[in-house]
Parts: sequence; structure tokens; C-alpha cells
Amino acid sequence: MTRKENALMLLRSCYGYDSFRGQQWDIIDHTLDGGDSIVLMPTGGGKSLCYQIPGLMSEDGFAIVISPLLALMNDQIDALQQNGIPALALNSEKSESENRQTVDLLMQGKVKLLYISPEKLLSEIDRWSSSITERICLFAVDEAHCISQWGHDFRPEYTQLGALKQRFPHIPVMALTATADRITRDDIAKQLGIPDARLFISSFDRPNISLNVVQGSTGRTKLRQIVQFINLHRGESGIIYCLRRKDTENMASRLTSLGIEAQPFHAGMSVKEKQRVQRDFINDDVKVVCATVAFGMGIDKSNVRYVIHSNMPRNIESYYQEIGRAGRDGLPAEALLFYNYGDMVTLQQFARESGQVQINMDKLRRMQQFAESTVCRRRILLNYFNERFDHDCHNCDVCNNPPERFDGTRYAQMALSAIKRTDEQATMYTVTDILRGWRKAEVIEHGYDQLKTFGVGRDLTIAEWNAYLLQMLQLGLFDVAYDENNHLKITEFGNEVLYGKRTIELSRFERRDFKKSKPQPVEEPAAPEIIAIEPQKVMDKALFERLRDVRKALAKASHIAPYMVFSDKSLQAMATEKPTTQAEFGILYGVGEVKCQKYWRPFTAAIREYLAHQ
Ligand code: ADP
Ligand code: ZN
Repeated sequence: MTRKENALMLLRSCYGYDSFRGQQWDIIDHTLDGGDSIVLMPTGGGKSLCYQIPGLMSEDGFAIVISPLLALMNDQIDALQQNGIPALALNSEKSESENRQTVDLLMQGKVKLLYISPEKLLSEIDRWSSSITERICLFAVDEAHCISQWGHDFRPEYTQLGALKQRFPHIPVMALTATADRITRDDIAKQLGIPDARLFISSFDRPNISLNVVQGSTGRTKLRQIVQFINLHRGESGIIYCLRRKDTENMASRLTSLGIEAQPFHAGMSVKEKQRVQRDFINDDVKVVCATVAFGMGIDKSNVRYVIHSNMPRNIESYYQEIGRAGRDGLPAEALLFYNYGDMVTLQQFARESGQVQINMDKLRRMQQFAESTVCRRRILLNYFNERFDHDCHNCDVCNNPPERFDGTRYAQMALSAIKRTDEQATMYTVTDILRGWRKAEVIEHGYDQLKTFGVGRDLTIAEWNAYLLQMLQLGLFDVAYDENNHLKITEFGNEVLYGKRTIELSRFERRDFKKSKPQPVEEPAAPEIIAIEPQKVMDKALFERLRDVRKALAKASHIAPYMVFSDKSLQAMATEKPTTQAEFGILYGVGEVKCQKYWRPFTAAIREYLAHQ
């Protein structure tokens, strides 16, 4: 049997997968030859297999996996043990005797994967006898960008890891990260002492995540849209990112009052509370979490089906990392971004107050361009990460629903004339009130209700005005004077439009309703590798729901997260193929030998019962 055949056999028996993805095999092959490597892959790309398989293939040796987050480590080990793979961790949370026992098992060659934090490894490895160190077949450095001061998650303890290559020059090192930029990458090679490491760069595209932006919605409109959206995703897990702590709390309590159980999560909560929310989310006990960006870091949950940004993130890097938490199982997932003027003002404020004004303003501008794009959004994203992507994705709102352009000169003139009549002393909010003819305190106080333009824009909704004013700002008809209470100032171009010398085009605002318009995501496989369903076979959604309950009960009984029993993708395969025997069950996606043994009875029983009642 060739090396590759051997690896494929392990892939089937341990994980229940039939083939390697992308560059996985090349990376493994290179490692088995003793080569060092730097692996850049997006979240959910399948990095773990790259170091797990070499560990499994080594006869009496093991791979060391260096990982910064204890929670993540424990989750990975639970998941591996579910597949019957001997993986253990050495860390400071465990008792002395537990750790000693782990070292004994290492010595006996009974462990294939050892997870460890960098500081623990460096203090421990000098004490190990050669009978242990001789068995090390690989050092895998996960989240390797933590080594770089340029990265977004610098951890000083990582910088000591260069000692490994010095001491064990013959043991291959594999550095893995989802952060792509060149500076970080060069820093990793330098600091780990692997200048000749081969670079494996995968595409950063996540084709299964559909990209959607809603412009101009605020307040109640936004809440209504979020509720509609979640109602389309009932029973599925999702994250709603908010800008501030209090927004997470407000959002969670408003959703809960509308019958959608949601929990807040932010840095101001106690460690215990945060852990509880995280656990409940992982275990599918809470489906919706309203969080600041702090949430999601240490979470490996594969069945997050959507990520909503209730407020726009500060830059594309953050946005991409956050939406990347959806759809790690490769099944269709949705990213929904709300973008409005108020957020822009707040974010610009943040950027101006930050230490690096220029960089942060530039990054914000790029984020804004993404949100306002009238070309395929995925093109913009991937180009931002310097990846060539020269076709439309057909999985973003621009591709699926190209914006309609119309002559917006009349609307622009209404707005510009309102601004002019306030002597350029009003904010965008006040201008909207004037156009809509709302007698707000500020409007009355300044006598704006006496203006000729008062109420001329009544035929447009507030959401429409929000969206159009934003577009006019981007077109350069007026500026926002940040040093003067954000009052609007008409530009030269604006004057030309106001006096009829120039015309402008706007993109038609579309009221976004998340009702029946979209098919349920589970019915439209997006990525090519998604379960090969023969034409006549479709997934039975009622059965899927039933199997989800079975999964939950089994997870509860053995105190693990439901996605560790089986991924959504495996459940879909079951609800499609409807296996009733062990043999039929054992060949499904994600069903390895150990899981087949353990779970074929409860699942096939549920399927048989379901079929009997049809
Ligand atoms: P990363 O660490 O890069 O974020 P993971 O290693 O967690 O990604 O993999 C993401 C998901 O893809 C996991 O559910 C994993 O089991 C699955 N996966 C990885 N490789 C394969 C493969 N060759 N075939 C099918 N599924 C895979
Ligand atoms: Zn597109």
C-alpha cells in the first residue's frame, strides 16, 4: 500500500471522509518527508487534519500541537476522542498526577497527538527523557500568527518557540494560521527558525458563506429585519455582533421579548457568565448570542449557520474573521451586515481617537467600500486579501440582485436645498427630519418647520432617505464637518447638482424583507464538495429535525457538544440517504469506525421509526 493509500484509509476509518481537501495531502506528504512548512488556510479550511494525520501515521511516535487557547484545545481533544483517536493535553489546568499519567502514556507510545501550550512545552521538554523526545514526529504550531508583533493577537510566550528547531533540527515544524499578510508570514519563518519552510497558501474564499448587506436600516426597522431573518433560521445557531456592550444586552432582551431566546456576551461579564453562555451556545441550548467581537475566539463550533453584524465592523480583517465563524462545516451559511450612517460616524470617531489615525481611517474606508459596493462583494473581499478572483460569485446580494440605477437628481436637490436653508448648520439626522416633515424639538427650535423644503420628501420612507443620503455623501455632494458637530457642508459638486448643472444616479433602495423570498439554506448546497446527492434524493427536513433531537440527547448523555457527535453535514447525509442498517450508516460522510459503532443504533432506529410513520 502506498503512503497516500494508507493515509486515505485512516481518513475514512478515523474521520469518515473520503478524500483530502485542497492542499491537505501535499502538506502531509511534505511533512512525512521531513520538510518544514507554513500553512495559510482560512478558518474552516481544514488545517487540523494536516498535522493530525502525520501523528496518526507515525508508528510509535506522536505529533505535538502547540495551541494558545485552553478551551480550544479541550474541544479539539474531545472531538478527537469521539473518533477514537488517542489525543491528550498537558496543561496547567490539569492536576499534577493527570499530567504525569499523560507523560507515562507518551513514553509507552500510546498517544498520537499531544496538545500543549507554548510555555508548558518549553518548561516540560527539557525534562523529558530521550525515549519520549525520540518519538516526536512533528511540531505543529497552531495560530502561528501569535508569534508576530505585527499580527492582531501577539502572544509573547510564542516568541520562545524558535528554541525547538535549534534543539531538534531534524523534527519537522508546521506553522498554521488563518492570517495571510506577508509581514506576519515572514516573521513566522524567521522566529521559528524555518527559513526554508515551504509555503502552502490556500484560497481564502469561503464559497458557502453568502454575503449580504442591508443599507440604511436603523432602530425598529433593523430589529424587524433581524427578527424576520432569525425566524427563517429557527432552530439554527447564529451570532449577532454589536458595537457596544449595552447594544448586546439591548438586542438580547428585545429579541427575547419577541420570542427569540438570545443571550448577551461581552467583556464586561464575569468569566463564569461568559463561560456559561459559550457552553450553552456550543451545546445548542442557546441558539442566538448577541456579542461584542470578544465572542467566538475560542469556539470551534462547526454549525454556526449565520453571523449578523448589527453594526459595521472597523475593518475588513475583522469582518472576515467574524463571518468566518459561520459555516465551518462547509454547508451554506449566511453573513448579514447592517450598514448605516450612524455607525460610520461612531467608527470614524473611534479611528480618529486611535493611535494610528491614518491606517485606521484607510481601513474603515475600505470596509465602507465593501458595504457600498455595486460589484460582486466577494471580489472586493478577496482582492483586499490580494487574491485574484476575477468572476462573479453568485452568492452575494449584488450578484443575486443587481442594484437598479435611476436618476436621483431631484432627490439630491431636495436634500441639498434643505441643507442650504439650514445655513449648513444641521446634521444628517436633522436634514432627514426636515425632508420627512417631522416636528422634532431640534427642528422647531431652529424654525426649520417654516422652511420651504419642510416635508418635501414625505413620499420616501426614513430608510430610503437614510440610504440615499448615504449615497449622496459618498458621491461627494456634501461633506460632514467632524469638527463642527457633524454638520453637513455642500461641496462644489453639490452646488452644481443643486443648480441643475449636473445630474447624479442613485442605486434604487430596496426594502429588504427576510420572508419567504429566499429558499431555506439547507436546500441549496453551494460548495461543490457538499454531499453528493443523487438527483432523485433530497433531504427530508422533518427527519433532519428529528435527527437533530437524537444528536442533542446523545450529546447531553455523554457531556459533549452536539456538533462533536455529528456535524450538520453528517445529519443531512442521514436525512438524505435514510440508512437503516449499520452497513449503510457506516459509509456516510463523517461516520468513522468508532462513531459508527457507537451511534448506528440510535440513529438508524430513529430513521426506521420515522419511516414507519410516514
Ligand atoms: P480549521 O482548523 O482550518 O479552521 P478544521 O480543521 O476545523 O478547520 O476543519 C473544518 C471542518 O472541515 C471540520 O469539520 C473538519 O472535520 C472538516 N474537514 C477537514 N478536512 C476535511 C476533508 N478532507 N473532508 C471532509 N471534511 C473535512
Ligand atoms: Zn458576488
